[in-house]
Amino acid sequence: MNAALKAGVPLLRVRDLAVQYREHRHALRGVSMELGEGGALGICGESGSGKSTLVRALLGLVPVSQGEIHWYGRSMATFGRKEWRALRRTVQPVFQDPLASLDPRMRVREILAEPLRVHRQELGAAVREQRISSLLARVGLTAGVLSRYPHELSGGQCQRICIARAMLLEPGVLVCDEPVSALDVSIQAQILAVLQTLHRESGAALVFVSHNLALVRRLCSQVIVLRGGAVVEAGLTREVLDNPQHPYTRQLIAAVPVVPRRAARSEQ
Ligand code: ADP
Ligand code: MG
Repeated sequence: MNAALKAGVPLLRVRDLAVQYREHRHALRGVSMELGEGGALGICGESGSGKSTLVRALLGLVPVSQGEIHWYGRSMATFGRKEWRALRRTVQPVFQDPLASLDPRMRVREILAEPLRVHRQELGAAVREQRISSLLARVGLTAGVLSRYPHELSGGQCQRICIARAMLLEPGVLVCDEPVSALDVSIQAQILAVLQTLHRESGAALVFVSHNLALVRRLCSQVIVLRGGAVVEAGLTREVLDNPQHPYTRQLIAAVPVVPRRAARSEQ
């Protein structure tokens, strides 16, 4: 997939996307957005606005009823086996409920070994183990968790495992759907800091979904605001937050205290 990357082609381009569920005809409609290599795009909106539906469409987990999604300049509608496999490696999701995202029957060691076993068979056992321990350190965990089962860990620890697993294959994009919403507020800041550091250091782009614009502001230079499945506002996060054009965006801003950017930085 990366080989298909051409200069001037954005990493992700969504045009006029619509998704329908049988019970919900307009879960998404007319959604367009773009994300460049290494960029950070926030998707914001209240519950039921279509954020997770958009994430599922990006990952190819729901059928698209109209419009197009291009990854690395290639339309998902034209993907064959090879492209799907590349997508599964290059576009890595992190979901809201970390415990539910981890196989309860597997120890952390096996959970983290699996993606490398499936996608990077050519790496020797020693290299794989080295990668796993280095990523554990980067997400702030020690080797002690390797012998644990997910239910023996805290929510924050489980989300760190999910993030480590997502980063193991050196993805081009992390797609995070409300990654801290299920966690205590005190843990949220830590997990956000981990995501921010990995995003900066690895160069992986970030799609960050949250109902909380303050969190989007911390991580993302660009944002789209969804309401009822449609984009009501889009642009640079700073500009949208400083000068919201749509009353709905103003409501979202009023719903959560937006921490000024400088204060947000010094907090970490
Ligand atoms: P968000 O993530 O912003 O809370 P969702 O994408 O989950 O929003 O949902 C958007 C709309 O689509 C909601 O009205 C929701 O009830 C509906 N919806 C989501 N998933 C399904 C589904 N599997 N079947 C039918 N309707 C769905
Ligand atoms: Mg959701």
